[in-house]
Amino acid sequence: MSEQISINKNENLVEITHLKKWFPVQQNFLDQILAGHVDFVRAVDDVSFTIKRGEAFGLAGESGSGKTTIGRLAIGLEKPTAGKVMFDGIDLSSLESEELRKLRRRMQVIFQDPMASLNPRMCLGDSIAHGLKIHYPEKIAEHRDITLSIMEKVGLTPPHFFFTKYPHQISGGQRQRVVIARALITNPDLILADEPIAMADVSVRALLLDLMVQLKNELNLTYLFITHDLATAKYICDRIGILYLGRLAEMGDLREVYGHALHPYTQALMAAVPVPNPHERRTQVMPAGEIPNPINPPSGCRFHPRCPVAQEICSKDEPELRALRPGHWVACHYAEKFL
Ligand code: SF4
Repeated sequence: MSEQISINKNENLVEITHLKKWFPVQQNFLDQILAGHVDFVRAVDDVSFTIKRGEAFGLAGESGSGKTTIGRLAIGLEKPTAGKVMFDGIDLSSLESEELRKLRRRMQVIFQDPMASLNPRMCLGDSIAHGLKIHYPEKIAEHRDITLSIMEKVGLTPPHFFFTKYPHQISGGQRQRVVIARALITNPDLILADEPIAMADVSVRALLLDLMVQLKNELNLTYLFITHDLATAKYICDRIGILYLGRLAEMGDLREVYGHALHPYTQALMAAVPVPNPHERRTQVMPAGEIPNPINPPSGCRFHPRCPVAQEICSKDEPELRALRPGHWVACHYAEKFL
């Protein structure tokens, strides 16, 4: 599968600039007239970052932080309200739908729930080969061999045995390997992995992460890895962005952020990660309260209603994301206190 479609070799495979995605709230006509305006869920609200070719970039945060929406925007499954997504130097918003469809060969997805994303009436071999049929119909004679080789690579061995099985006939861990194989079949550059091991049994999670790391190194893949779990991100990511209510709170090299978390929200997330030592107790807990309503986010710093160190200015001025250490960006007025 050496054929490539308009391959560039930009150092940054993905460049996201001032990205916004606001979803209109469904209201009935009378409510809309009485309100005099349309409300929007500000799922993503001015987010910028880049993903270098060959790196694993993690996006972490609580449910409702906007991480899945950013993932969908990054591969053109959603159109942004504002801002830009560049993939290998190509502005996704400049593409016609057919051009975008062709480019999608280079960006594939591993979804959270393999059972929901596999056709129960299609054998595993045909499910995995589906991308070949769409993107390489002229090479149909090679499809079976390519599929068997990818199945072997992801540990579905012997591949001939698994080729004719159906999703309900294999284990959850094996189903996730099928979904990984299906993502790899078109020889992509970027893999969007959206909570890829969240549904897997605890006993196979480490094996799946090992597999993803091995495949990344072997095939020079780039990952956008979405997770709510910092322990999982630590295993696989080179850099990480911590999202809170549609905005980046902190971003940087993984070791830097994990070793010197400067944002109170990141510190709280880190403190909530379980430790494998029964004698070591966590003293901090997640900040009190729920993530606020993204239709009407808090003024100033969005984290201020839950922040244990908030000051008066925090409810008035929104902090900028700024570099405080090499490769380490933080959006907090008082981050210097934690240096
Ligand atoms: Fe807390 Fe203020 Fe920093 Fe926001 S800006 S995280 S409220 S200290």
